[in-house]
Amino acid sequence: MQLKGKTAIVTGSNSGIGLGVARELARAGADVVLNSYTDSEEDHALAAGIGSEFGVSARYVKADLSKAEEARALVETAGACDILVNNAGIQHVAPIDEFPVAKWDAIIAINLNSAFHTTAVALPMMRKAGWGRVVNIASAHGLTASPYKSAYVAAKHGIVGMTKVVALETAEEPITANAICPGYVLTPLVEAQIPDTMKEYGMSREDVIKNVMLQRQPSKEFATVEEIGGTAVFLCSEAARQITGTTISVDGGWTAL
Ligand code: NAD
Repeated sequence: MQLKGKTAIVTGSNSGIGLGVARELARAGADVVLNSYTDSEEDHALAAGIGSEFGVSARYVKADLSKAEEARALVETAGACDILVNNAGIQHVAPIDEFPVAKWDAIIAINLNSAFHTTAVALPMMRKAGWGRVVNIASAHGLTASPYKSAYVAAKHGIVGMTKVVALETAEEPITANAICPGYVLTPLVEAQIPDTMKEYGMSREDVIKNVMLQRQPSKEFATVEEIGGTAVFLCSEAARQITGTTISVDGGWTAL
């Protein structure tokens, strides 16, 4: 219960890594604010379920993070923010000369700009509380590149850079800012691609995972959302007090290649 009494906002947390991170923070005792751009009964039920499972306060706040004012309003509505996890993200794959402008703008807005807006509103709250943790979910693509992912790679390198700036601006305060750089993580988004790829290549599930999806991940295993969540909990712990302005790769060796 090391995070009891802390409030954590996790952006883009009604599925995948964000949900996994919110659950691990709640397991460690934090009150959590879940978010996405939808506002369904399931979204609110998800938060209520986490609240009762872990005995913490959990609520869902709708905000479309492609819009600056909604990103800022998310943190204002939460009212407190000791832990800010900037996780919301989307992807689009195309060669740069064919990359749709609207997709470029959306990826930069959601994957990068929203973290600027939420951080700008959250930092004064952390200063007032005398403690804070910013955890940005970047990617192996925040450290390396792949073809056809120009906007994603630009946004992820951007968020790694912004993480360093936030760390320097808070260096003498009890606040840290770090980025987690996952390799491939088995989220519903990734899981859904497996059957199509099996058909396309005429391969077994195991071969698709090992030889297509995890081609660049030396461990040949996905990271799990629980492992990303556990890394976030560690960054929020007192043991991580002097860890700031850096990246932690959870990528099965991808960036060691
Ligand atoms: P996901 O699609 O399951 O989750 C993305 C979340 O962002 C969802 O909750 C979605 O609702 C939310 N979101 C999307 N657009 C939004 C908007 N406009 N406003 C608010 N919320 C919005 O995908 P995921 O795999 O869990 O990805 C989460 C983060 O982890 C992303 O930043 C992604 O780049 C990063 N990441 C994922 C992997 C992976 O292999 N899955 C690897 C490295 C980094």
